[in-house]
This record gives sequence, C-alpha cells and structure tokens, in this order.
Amino acid sequence: QLNEKESMFIVSEFAKKYFEETLFHAEEGKAIGMTYFKERGFTQETIKEFGLGYSPDQWSAFTDAALQKGYSLEYLEKTGLTIVKEDRKFDRFKGRVMFPIQSMSGRVLGFGGRILITDKKAAKYLNSPESDIYHKSKVLYGIFHAKQEIAKQDNCFLVEGYTDVIQMHQTGIKNVVASSGTALTPDQIRLISRLTKNITMLFDGDAAGIRASMRGVDLILEAGMNVRVCPLPDGEDPDSFARKHSKEQLDEYFKNNATDFIRFKANLLMGEAKSDPIKKAELIRDMVQSISKIPDQIQKEIYVQECARIMDISEDVIFNSLAQIGRKEL
Ligand code: ATP
Ligand code: MN
Ligand code: MN
Ligand code: MN
Repeated sequence: QLNEKESMFIVSEFAKKYFEETLFHAEEGKAIGMTYFKERGFTQETIKEFGLGYSPDQWSAFTDAALQKGYSLEYLEKTGLTIVKEDRKFDRFKGRVMFPIQSMSGRVLGFGGRILITDKKAAKYLNSPESDIYHKSKVLYGIFHAKQEIAKQDNCFLVEGYTDVIQMHQTGIKNVVASSGTALTPDQIRLISRLTKNITMLFDGDAAGIRASMRGVDLILEAGMNVRVCPLPDGEDPDSFARKHSKEQLDEYFKNNATDFIRFKANLLMGEAKSDPIKKAELIRDMVQSISKIPDQIQKEIYVQECARIMDISEDVIFNSLAQIGRKEL
C-alpha cells in the first residue's frame, strides 16, 4: 500500500510538470491557457509559484505522453488522471487550465481543472476523484503556500476558491487557504489549528456564500478556535476584490469589516428581527446555539456578555438557555 501511494504521488508530480510545460511551451498552451491566466491578472511569477498548467484539448495527449515515459496505466487510472472506458483511454482534464492541489509539505495530491468557456454544459471546475492520496475533506487548497504566513500573522483567511487564494497571495496577503467546493470540514479545521487558532472567513457576498459560512462558524467554534467573519461588497469574491485593490487597502478593509461571529449574526439578522419578537427570539436561540459549541468556559462567558449587550437582554436569559441546550445534549 505504501508503494502504491508512492507510485500515485510520482505520477501526479509528473502530471504537474507536464501541464506546466504545456502551458509555458506548447503552442496550444501558450495561446489558450497562458492567455486565460494573463486575462485573469496572474503574473508569470504567480503562475510558476502555484504550478499552474494547461491540459491539451485532445482525447489522450497527456495519457499518451505519460505512458510513453514509462508511467503505468494502473496509477494513471488510480489517481483519476486517466479514465479508462472499454479499453480506450481519456484524459480527465482535457482542455482545462490546471491547479495542482498540494499537501502541507508540498506533495501533489490531485488537481482542479477549470474549463475556459463557461457557457458549455460541462462543470466549470472538475476535481480529481477521491483516491488513496486525495481526500477532498482533508485538504485545503493553498496550505503549502500559506503555512508560514499563517503562523507569522497568527491568522488564517478562509476563502471559497482556487483563484481567490492565488489573487490574494499575489496582492500580498499570503495567509489564505480555500476549502475548494466542499463545505468546511473538521479535518480541514484541524489542519489550520496546527498553525493558528484564529480564522477569518471571507465569502462571496451572495446568499449562498453567507449560508455556507454560517455552517463553518459553528464547526470552528467547536474546535476551540476563534472565528471572525468579513463580508465582501455585493457581487465581489476575494479574487475580484483583491484585483481591484492594493495590499494596504485590503488590510484596511479587513480591519474595518471583520467582526466576531456574534456581531456578524446580529448584523445579518437584526434588521428584520428588531420589531418582531418571535424573530428576535429565534435569532437569540441561534446565537446561543453557536455559543454552546465553545469548549472554553471563559471564552463562553465573554460571548454571553457580548450577546446580552447586542440583543439587549439579561445574561441570565442566555445562561438559562445554554443550560437547556446542555440538558438536551445529555
Ligand atoms: P471563477 O472565478 O474561476 O469563475 P470561483 O473560484 O469564483 O471561479 P465559485 O463559483 O465561486 O468559483 O466556486 C468556488 C469554488 O468551488 C471553486 O473555486 C471550485 O473549487 C469549486 N467549484 C465551483 N464550481 C464547481 C463545480 N462545478 N464542480 C466542482 N467544484 C466547483
Ligand atoms: Mn509568493
Ligand atoms: Mn467565487
Ligand atoms: Mn471568482
């Protein structure tokens, strides 16, 4: 099994090199892939740093090259780079720009591939399938490039996508990782907790983004970590936002707009809840539910005070409903 995994790593490393080579030196890669990345505002240096690449728009150009170099079909198939159907071989990522997904120590675990024209029926992003080396719930995109800065800043920005990580990194904010298409998982949080206890969530300014971040908040609290939330202006994601601003402007924006989760929930829901006692009660229950996840007693009490103040109710009410939740869970 150990050998098997090792063989999968080796073929994945070859694939990364092949896609990079194609992006930088093949006519098709230069004309299509490189043009695409340039239009997104990625510099050569950034493209090299993140190992971005291009997979030719042919049925099996990559697979043929790998086989010719002596890599075995077994591991090409096990990593999902090649799809075998009725004895015919197909490149999974045909015609896509490639984002290698690396482990904390820099090993290539899998790939994300983006289609160039999004009006086709095909999925915008395609990822490597689950395998012995790629477990999507256990990896964070960008962790290899972010780990040093996460420890140094003692904070980790969490975003949704590949391009968010890359654009922020290029702008100079390097302590950033993405959950890449899955809802945040406990394993991903554990990975961050080795480097810092502080997470700042940045999410797309739409309803789906907000909902996804709410679920993440409780998981982070349960892990005993501190979570702040920073909404972006309507219609922006971290990629588009970072592209329009300097590092100093971004620092300033995050400083002014990141709030703790209690305030975030309050701000988000208070508008409609203010004049409606039933909605207000619901909102308080929601906040108390989050507070109940915090393992540290002192931390918990600080948030009880905060919640009482924001919602203009007594701390006793909150302690009572915390006790109720405690009983229900016993
Ligand atoms: P782009 O800016 O390239 O259009 P994005 O990163 O802003 O893409 P979103 O639609 O915001 O894309 O999705 C966030 C992340 O979710 C993506 O980076 C990708 O990891 C994942 N994702 C999006 N669409 C799909 C899909 N169809 N299949 C699998 N994962 C996806
Ligand atoms: Mn860098
Ligand atoms: Mn996005
Ligand atoms: Mn985007």
